Amino acid sequence: MQAYRKRAKRGFSLVELLAVVLVLAVLAAVAVPLYISQRKSAAGRACKANIAAIANAASAYALRNGAYPATGAAVWSSKLVGANEGLAKWPACPLGADYTCTTNADGSAEIACPNDGAHAGFGGAAGDWTVDLAKPGADSLP
Ligand SMILES: [Zn+2]
Repeated sequence: MQAYRKRAKRGFSLVELLAVVLVLAVLAAVAVPLYISQRKSAAGRACKANIAAIANAASAYALRNGAYPATGAAVWSSKLVGANEGLAKWPACPLGADYTCTTNADGSAEIACPNDGAHAGFGGAAGDWTVDLAKPGADSLP
């Protein structure tokens, strides 16, 4: 009896350790997918905010100049970053890509995230990370 008590004080049994490992595995199996999903959802929301900020700056630029900048993210960046239009710096998608900024021949424009498919399902549907801008002045007349 005394030998058993000495051995029992040495530490945990294998079954006890396995039970703890099992509980930790179950918790991780629940928490990790939730964490990944929340990160993707946050990236989608941040991307939409970036696109909205670019759209606002582009609208301010178009009001001042009568047209959107020429096609190309580099051109839009050079025209929209600064005190006049309100963008402190050119944003990038949290998933790592530059936005495509297209000015159409009819005067309208489009801002899109190339990661639209990756964002879909996390804060919106496919196509929600594209914003169409009407031709400047087209919607201001009654
Ligand atoms: Zn994005």
